[in-house]
Amino acid sequence: MAERIHTTDTTCPYCGVGCGVSVNGAGDSVTGMANHPANQGRLCVKGAALHETLDHHNRLLYPEVNGAVVDWDSALDEVTRRLRDTVAEYGPDSVACYGSGQLLTEDYYVANKLMKGFVGSAHMDTNSRLCMASAVAGYKRAFGGDSVPGCYEDLDSAELLVLVGSNAAWTHPVLYQRMVAAKKARPDTRVVVIDPRRTATCDLADLHLPLRPGADGLLFNGLLAWLGRHGHLDRDYIREHTRGFEDALARAEADSGSLASLAQRCDLPEEDIETFFNWFAGRPRTVTFYSQGINQSATGTDKCNTIINCHLATGRVGKTGASPFSITGQPNAMGGREVGGLANQLAAHMDFAPEDVDRVKRFWNAANMVSEPGLKAVELFQAVASGRIKFIWILSTNPVVSLPEADRVRDALRRCPTVVVSECMADTDTVRLADIKLPARTWGEKNGTVTNSERCISRQRPFLEAPGEARSDWWALAQVGRRLGYAEAFGWRHPAQVFAEHAALSGFENDGRRAFDISGLATLDQAGYDAMAPVRWPVNRQWPQGRRRLFGDGRFTTDDGRARFVAVTARLPEGRPGPGEMIMNTGRIRDQWHTMTRTGKARRLLQHIGEPFVALHPEDARRHRIGDGQLANVENRHGAIVMRARVTTDQRPGELFVPMHWSSPFSARARMGALVQATTDPLSGQPESKVSRVRVAPC
Ligand code: SF4
Repeated sequence: MAERIHTTDTTCPYCGVGCGVSVNGAGDSVTGMANHPANQGRLCVKGAALHETLDHHNRLLYPEVNGAVVDWDSALDEVTRRLRDTVAEYGPDSVACYGSGQLLTEDYYVANKLMKGFVGSAHMDTNSRLCMASAVAGYKRAFGGDSVPGCYEDLDSAELLVLVGSNAAWTHPVLYQRMVAAKKARPDTRVVVIDPRRTATCDLADLHLPLRPGADGLLFNGLLAWLGRHGHLDRDYIREHTRGFEDALARAEADSGSLASLAQRCDLPEEDIETFFNWFAGRPRTVTFYSQGINQSATGTDKCNTIINCHLATGRVGKTGASPFSITGQPNAMGGREVGGLANQLAAHMDFAPEDVDRVKRFWNAANMVSEPGLKAVELFQAVASGRIKFIWILSTNPVVSLPEADRVRDALRRCPTVVVSECMADTDTVRLADIKLPARTWGEKNGTVTNSERCISRQRPFLEAPGEARSDWWALAQVGRRLGYAEAFGWRHPAQVFAEHAALSGFENDGRRAFDISGLATLDQAGYDAMAPVRWPVNRQWPQGRRRLFGDGRFTTDDGRARFVAVTARLPEGRPGPGEMIMNTGRIRDQWHTMTRTGKARRLLQHIGEPFVALHPEDARRHRIGDGQLANVENRHGAIVMRARVTTDQRPGELFVPMHWSSPFSARARMGALVQATTDPLSGQPESKVSRVRVAPC
């Protein structure tokens, strides 16, 4: 490739903030894009180190079948043969695809079309199930669609920021920087952090509520009841724009009881709860910012709705500085949802209602359109274990590390007749189990779009030659579609064509009840696609320049245009710890991303925290005779891990924290997913990753 002299504007591949990044011509410096709405020039340390992760060490460079290097044609022929043979012998229900919030929207779109429209299997799910599925289900119940009402500017103008289950200082650092700046500019802004752990985010907090793990829904039910008792409801808004309020309020009152009882059950000081409630009542511009501490729960959907209920009851949805605001973990979790990357969705935010199935079928001219939802991530891998799924294509993710009961997932893949893995790295826990390995392009080589937490669609642009024979995932998927005999349906030559089709489907027979409508981008040609500026959906005839906020006018995408309160009885996590057991929480650290395949390459990112650890309270350390810095064994009936102990009062007694990042190539026994039980939310299918019962002992 000729040496570039111009910078390339692209998007950071890590978290759901979706920062714009400018890469210089030499490819040895990255800076934040000043004109990107997500970050306005800011970057965190991971984004600033992106250029240090571009080497080709440990890259998967060539296709392999059963350990032998082959050319692409041979590999794709083999994928197609096995896929076709499996469907012929066992039916389409025996094949599955598992994607990732790391995929670009174009990759996701093609995978979904291939599986749900032409192979005839709805078992197309994604690791976004581990991240955002509860937030999605909560929005759909309340607003009638998977639509985030607010935008990042709301963080600048809020009078009250409530962070629930979010360590934004480490997980969404650029948004945290924005909150710090907002608080500095307007010191009267109040910040409440609701989290069992004292995290770095608490440095900004006026009030930290270190509640009992899993009690968030109870606390927000208590807030709704308290707002009702003290006359802080927006009765006009409730009457004109919502349904179901009285039921939700009655349930919240019955659930939460007196303030003293609520405080006792949440394990919080009564006066601190009252302070939070008073601040909420008196500050109309409130953003409740929530993330995995809410979503990764067996009651995650209900928790989301208890938060949304409080915002609806006070008329704080889609207004300047006032919204419930879920923050996605991954760079393209929302883009995946837009194309139907979840097994219980079709493309363009359509579900499995017969009219939606028919609409998508006609648009695609689909040969084998599915009509029922498929298996969600945890049950999908259980179906691999049971032998029901006999062919699985895994793209851009590492489920042997990240899924609950990860050792079972590993054993299931070992037994699965065909495991195809599309991956940029040659050695991950999942790649090791692949029968067919397909070398994928990665950041800097890929060309497509992503959607961040505020609905902003941004381009990821290539600025590097792909090494070896790495190819785009959308291309490999389309090649299989063509080999199955669907040349016209999979005939794209460029990702711009895939994007245009996706955009056209979003507007196809859309009467306005699907907020996701980017039909205004459907006519972009390749040059327009290459030049596309970041834009927040919808982008259509009514909103040609995109839209910052949704639902501020009180009209929602339900059948009657009214939002729904959801009556919730909050449940604490089941199964109290037995004698000698502790509760294990999991999460991210500041300088690493997912299973470290990229961030693990940058030496400076290992300087913050260089090895896996288990954080525990001094009382627990004493009881279990574990010294600070000593190796500790953490185990339960599902597996065992070894980590170095960090003794800290940031943990509540009886509770541990372990980071999610380490996998076999970096540390032999640190896959925390091995200890997480495969308990899921019945509505969203999202696993309970924050409250696993474990035992800890010195090594
Ligand atoms: Fe922005 Fe997140 Fe990338 Fe940091 S990791 S630069 S916050 S997108």
